[in-house]
Amino acid sequence: MHKNSVMNLSVPLTDIEEQNKAMQEELEQAIAEVVKSGSCILGPEVKALEGEIAKLSMTKYGVGVASGTDAIKLALLACGVKTGDEVITTSFSFIATADSIVRAGATPVFADIDPATFNVDAEKIKQKITPKTSAIVVVHLYGQPARMDKIMDIAKEHGLKVVEDCAQAISADYQGQKVGSTSDAGCLSFFPSKNLGCLGDGGMVVTNDEKIAETVAILRVHGAKTKYNSETIGFNSRLDEIQAAVLRVKLKYLKEWTVNRQQAAASYNEHLKNSFIQTPYVQPKVGHVYNQYTVRSSKRDVLIEQLTKNGVASAVYYPIPIHLQDAFKAFGHKEGDLIETEKASQEVLSLPIFPTISAEQIKKVTSVIKGAF
Ligand SMILES: *Cc1c(COP(=O)(O)O)cnc(C)c1O
Repeated sequence: MHKNSVMNLSVPLTDIEEQNKAMQEELEQAIAEVVKSGSCILGPEVKALEGEIAKLSMTKYGVGVASGTDAIKLALLACGVKTGDEVITTSFSFIATADSIVRAGATPVFADIDPATFNVDAEKIKQKITPKTSAIVVVHLYGQPARMDKIMDIAKEHGLKVVEDCAQAISADYQGQKVGSTSDAGCLSFFPSKNLGCLGDGGMVVTNDEKIAETVAILRVHGAKTKYNSETIGFNSRLDEIQAAVLRVKLKYLKEWTVNRQQAAASYNEHLKNSFIQTPYVQPKVGHVYNQYTVRSSKRDVLIEQLTKNGVASAVYYPIPIHLQDAFKAFGHKEGDLIETEKASQEVLSLPIFPTISAEQIKKVTSVIKGAF
């Protein structure tokens, strides 16, 4: 392609629409099978998907639920987290990480991030432990696993449960182990923008712990093991058969899509090598799955302006840390409480990344960035 035609390309943030169009027939067929079967709730598709996702995550069990948010909430409850407990987590995430802690009855306590990876800093977790602490919720932000080895050591030393928010990190690994497989439970989201997305909402808890799997499976159906005689107060939080059928079609392509994302990231890194913006730092022994390709710049506003002007989409994940959002005012946080988190929220910028992003599109994005100043 000539330079001019490259510069005329517009680059969207994701390709969800295109992805669905490309597999429309397959998806429609899978949905039609569910329609024909007459089985809508917790039928064979959900069961099969639970097995397939557990296998992918190298866990014994998978339990489908209504969303990633519910996966976190139910996993915490299944771990025994109760009203009045404190749960340590990161403030640099989507709000679901923390609101599910509150909905499980506990108080979120925020530890600052490692500015290199944007993931929670294990040392900072230690400083936040009190006698009320019962669990840690770790987020693998943007698709890069956090330091699970260190975090599990701390948890074991203090008798804490660990739940992983793997919403952005399906199939990512650290030291050869999949996210969700080394802690008490991993929580996946199948929201359309995730690496494996359905056509609506969906989520799953993966775990090696039989008791946790069983408890989540009970909590998702009103706390009932046997119908109409509930043993505990639960929820209605099921994964639909239609969504499971859609996910099983898409799951066949996940590996290829992930490799495409990793190749796109490598190409971005190469093009941006000598630029003034900071490309993602990836820890040794990490398999990053790039739900987002997030760069860092103290002149983010200028970058956004230039990208927008040139038809390139970009997004800030997340502009306001959770502890400073209105919904968390009651917890009494103030600016300055989490220096690295607050700084990152001012400087991060996620660039377009999706499995079918072309070399020309990456060239376009990086040309605009390099020409921005
Ligand atoms: C998407 C997301 C969630 C919530 O998942 P839903 O399925 O939308 O409820 C939780 N945590 C993180 C980090 C996410 O990106």
